[in-house]
Amino acid sequence: MTNEQLLREGAEQIGIKDLRTDLFLSYVDLLRKWGKRVNLTSVLTDREIIIKHLIDSLTVAEFVPPGSRVLDVGTGAGFPGIPLSIYDSSLRVTLVESVGKKVAFLKHAKRSLGLSSVDIHHARAEDLTKGMNRSFDRVTSRAVGSMDAVIALGAPYLDIEGEMVIMKGPRGKDEWEDYANRYPEDMELLFTKELKLPFSGENRVIIVTKPVYRPMETKA
Ligand code: SAM
Repeated sequence: MTNEQLLREGAEQIGIKDLRTDLFLSYVDLLRKWGKRVNLTSVLTDREIIIKHLIDSLTVAEFVPPGSRVLDVGTGAGFPGIPLSIYDSSLRVTLVESVGKKVAFLKHAKRSLGLSSVDIHHARAEDLTKGMNRSFDRVTSRAVGSMDAVIALGAPYLDIEGEMVIMKGPRGKDEWEDYANRYPEDMELLFTKELKLPFSGENRVIIVTKPVYRPMETKA
């Protein structure tokens, strides 16, 4: 199977039809070339980049409406932010990454792929410009840390109706339940989606959640 067939077939298996593949395939080339120089991802064959990174990233597309302002915290080599931005050019995607060599790759990828609606910040997510608080419709995160850490990093950036889309491995539901038991009043669970990645069959869990906003307390 060619890379293009793998990408199309994988996308179809997660419900995405008629994927335009040219930019995705250019991104695979960049990841392969840079991955050798910089430790971008541990997975480097084209097949694994396509299945474990690109298709996996696209599994959250259904939770990110067109036109959304998206913040991807701890994006690494651009997952899931870059695949989302290639898939839907109406998204305004901001990538945040703390490691300089990964940011250099992201900037190169943005230029090479012509991703004009992608913004890149070299920062720790907790130190991002203050003006960005409550500025995003969706905050995404994939493989960035514990449920507590990811929510603490991402929630301050959500606009009032904003949602966090958290990508987890097979234990994602347990991690959510553990979090919700400890902080029952902080976040509302909107969706949980369990799925198997095409071809590899690996289990993934997507948690979609939003902060519970309380009316300001008034003094009697
Ligand atoms: N999301 C990417 C993926 O799925 O391939 C990268 C995952 S990698 C395991 C975690 C990334 O988060 C690393 O590149 C790390 O530098 C970045 N990171 C961790 N904590 C961060 C923080 N507080 N602010 C910004 N980036 C952070």
